Amino acid sequence: MKSSPYNDDTIAAISTPPGEGGVAIIRISGPEAVTVADRIFRGRSPLSAAIPGKMCLGHVVENCETASANAKTRKVEIVIDEVFATIFIAPRSYTGEDVVELSGHGGVYVSRRVLESVLSAGARLACPGEFTQRAFLNGRMDLTRAQAVADLIHARSESARRVAMGQLGGRLSDVINGFRQSLIDVCGRLEIELDFIEEDIEVIDKNDLKDELVNVVDQIDKLMDTYERGRVCREGVKLVILGKPNVGKSSLLNALLASERAIVTDTPGTTRDTIEGHVDLEGLLVTITDTAGIRKSPDPIEQEGVRRSEAAARQAGIVVVVVDGSREISSEDRDVIELARSLAVPMLMVLNKSDLPQHRLPDNVADAEMTLLVSALEGTGIEALAQSIKDHALGDGLPGVDDVVVAHLQHLQSLKRTKGAIEQALASISQTMSQEFIALDLRVALDALGEITGETTTDDILHHIFDSFCIGK
Ligand code: GDP
Repeated sequence: MKSSPYNDDTIAAISTPPGEGGVAIIRISGPEAVTVADRIFRGRSPLSAAIPGKMCLGHVVENCETASANAKTRKVEIVIDEVFATIFIAPRSYTGEDVVELSGHGGVYVSRRVLESVLSAGARLACPGEFTQRAFLNGRMDLTRAQAVADLIHARSESARRVAMGQLGGRLSDVINGFRQSLIDVCGRLEIELDFIEEDIEVIDKNDLKDELVNVVDQIDKLMDTYERGRVCREGVKLVILGKPNVGKSSLLNALLASERAIVTDTPGTTRDTIEGHVDLEGLLVTITDTAGIRKSPDPIEQEGVRRSEAAARQAGIVVVVVDGSREISSEDRDVIELARSLAVPMLMVLNKSDLPQHRLPDNVADAEMTLLVSALEGTGIEALAQSIKDHALGDGLPGVDDVVVAHLQHLQSLKRTKGAIEQALASISQTMSQEFIALDLRVALDALGEITGETTTDDILHHIFDSFCIGK
C-alpha cells in the first residue's frame, strides 16, 4: 500500500450533485469515519456495531446549547435529517479505507447541514477527486481506472461512455501490463546473461530478444493508432461552419441542431460572433460552431467577427464550407474554401439552397472535396450531411465492448516514450552493446509504461488528473 499525506485524516463531502433531488449522499472516508459518523448518527444501535454494506435507518443530529429555566445552559441534540447510514470497512470500500455513506433527503440546504454536522464531528472537507485519489493510493484501482471514473462522470455521449467503461473495466491496464510483462521477461533473460559474463558464453539468443521487442513495438504502434478515434469518442468533435454571409450557415446550424438556436435573417453580416450548439449524432458528441460570414468589410465590428471565425476555424476537427448553390461561386467563396483547405482537417462542402435552381460548381472547386447538396430551409440532405460528419470523425464507428482504445494524450505520450526506449534497446542489441545498456533502455521503457498505470507517475501528473474531478468523487 502506498502512503498518502492525507491518509491519516478523515474526509467528507457531498457526493451527489448540488440541487434538489430524491437523495443526497454524504460520504465520509478515513480511519475515523465510523467514529465521526457515530458522533452525529442516532439509530437503533451505533454504527460501530452495524453490519458492513447494510443500511441503518436513523437521524443525523447536531448539538446545540439552550438556556434552561434556571438560566444555566445545557446541551441538547436537534435532528437535522433522517438518513440511511451504510458502513464499509477497510479495505472493502471504494477508497480502501473505512467509509460511511449517509443517504439523506436530496435538498441543497439539508444536505449542507448534514455535511456541516459531519465536519464539526471531526472530518475535513474533501478536495476534488480525493476519494478516488485515495482509492488509487490504497491500491484499489490503478491510474487508468481512476481516470476512467472521471471520464465516465464527464461523459456526455454514448461513445464517451463506452471508452470510459472499457478503461474502467481494466482492458487498457491489461494491455499495458502485457507489454510490461514482455519487457520484464527480456530484462530477466539479460540478467541471466550477465551472470555468465565472465565465462564469455552467449546463453541467450539475441535474435529472440529482438523478435520479442519488435513484437511489443508493433503492438504499441497498433495501440497508438487508436488514439485519434479514442480522443474523438471521449471529447467529441468540433465542427465549424464557414462561408461568406447569407449562404445559409445559421440555417444549416439550426437544421443540424433541429432547433432555432441561431438567429436567421436575410441581412448579410448579421451573425457577428460565433454561435455554438451541441448535437448527438448516434452516440458521437458534435459541437457545432456557426461563424460570422467571412468577407472583406470596412465595418470594424464585422472585421472582428471575421477574425473570430478564422480563430474558430483553426480549432476545428472538421469544417463545413457552405456555398449558395443557386448562385455562381464568387471570389469570396473561393477565399473561404482556400482558408478551409489550409486547415489540414476534413472539409465537407455544402451546396445549400438546393430547393432553388442550381449553378454548376466549377471543376477546380468540386474536386477533392466531399460535396453535398442541401436545403437547410427544407431540411433535405441534412441526414446525409450528418452521416458524412460521423464517417469523417469516426471512420470505424463507435468502439465495441472489447475494443481497447487510447483516449488520453498523456497515455499517447507515454506510449511514444516507451516505443522510443525500446527502439533504443533494439539499436543497442544490434550494436552488440553490453547488457547493462540494453537493460537501462528497457528500464526507461518500463517507467514510461508505469506512468500510464500509475506505478511511476509524478506528483504533477497525479494532481493534474485528480484536479479534474469534482468534489465528492
Ligand atoms: P448566413 O448569413 O450564412 O448565416 O445565412 P442565413 O442562415 O442567415 O440565411 C440567409 C438567407 O438565406 C435567409 O433568408 C434564409 O432563409 C435563406 N436560406 C438559408 N438556407 C436556405 C435554403 O436552403 N434555401 C433557400 N431557398 N433559402 C435559404
